[in-house]
Amino acid sequence: MTRLLIGLASASLLLAACATSTVSPASGPSGSAPAGAPDGSAVARPTIVAAFYPLEYAARAIGGDAVDIVGLTPPGGEPHDLELSAAQVAEIASADLVLYVKGYQPAVDEAVAQQAADHSLDVSAGLTLLPAEHAAGHEGEPAGEEGATDPHVWLNPLNMAGIGTAITERLSASAPDGSAAFAANNERLGSEMATLNEQFTAGLASCRSRIMVVSHEAFAYLGSAYGFTQVGISGLSPDAEPSPARMRDVADLVTREGVTTIYYETLVDPKVAKTLADETGATSAVLDPIEGLVAGSAESYPTIMASNLATLRTGQGCT
Ligand SMILES: [Zn+2]
Repeated sequence: MTRLLIGLASASLLLAACATSTVSPASGPSGSAPAGAPDGSAVARPTIVAAFYPLEYAARAIGGDAVDIVGLTPPGGEPHDLELSAAQVAEIASADLVLYVKGYQPAVDEAVAQQAADHSLDVSAGLTLLPAEHAAGHEGEPAGEEGATDPHVWLNPLNMAGIGTAITERLSASAPDGSAAFAANNERLGSEMATLNEQFTAGLASCRSRIMVVSHEAFAYLGSAYGFTQVGISGLSPDAEPSPARMRDVADLVTREGVTTIYYETLVDPKVAKTLADETGATSAVLDPIEGLVAGSAESYPTIMASNLATLRTGQGCT
């Protein structure tokens, strides 16, 4: 199962930045030894398949230049309903490690079960999960599966730290030579996420409104960590079209609770959120669920979270 790639760090970084397709053995300046191989021998570079952007971020943070990362969800793509090409299924089968969140992307769940049962990691497995209760409450939507959990774990930075630790343990077991570097990287990610958590805690401590009206219910973990209740116009999946009754209910709530900002997101058509804002006299603003990057984006998980914090402070009237 191990794929041996003779890689050059710079070239693989370049490829990882594109993060859409197979990382092939890099062709670099001739005559130089592969990175990490002082004796010039071939180095086994683990190939990590990451199901969507935040997992790519965590994998890169931990693996650094010692791993090749293949992202399954292309920039600009909406990950919930990702469909996999035959080539992507083959990448899942041949990877050293596949990172995913069980229950988030049905196509990935299925491919992992069939092709990667022995080399996959559900990064949410060690986290405290919230029930997917909101998904069941909306008219016209199928009720959530019994015991189903909300997959949007990465919107709490402390969960990202936990994801980093889970990746570190798994990677260190399969590539022990890198374990010291992975541990150091994990420490760095952990403190970066702890800082972000402190900024959110302080920045959202004193706010006029504790209700977040969002286009889809991606923010339960963020809300739970910092004291907000999310009200989703559509359910857990961004594509679910809200019924007229749901729209009316949310509009009533916006008026009744004096909600001033309705949040929409980057990868999904903002029409519904903007309609609701127009109807109620509220404004609309982007709150990014970081399910993926916009194509061509130079942003990263921490910079998007910093924008989210600023947006929430304004939208929720925090002082
Ligand atoms: Zn989502």
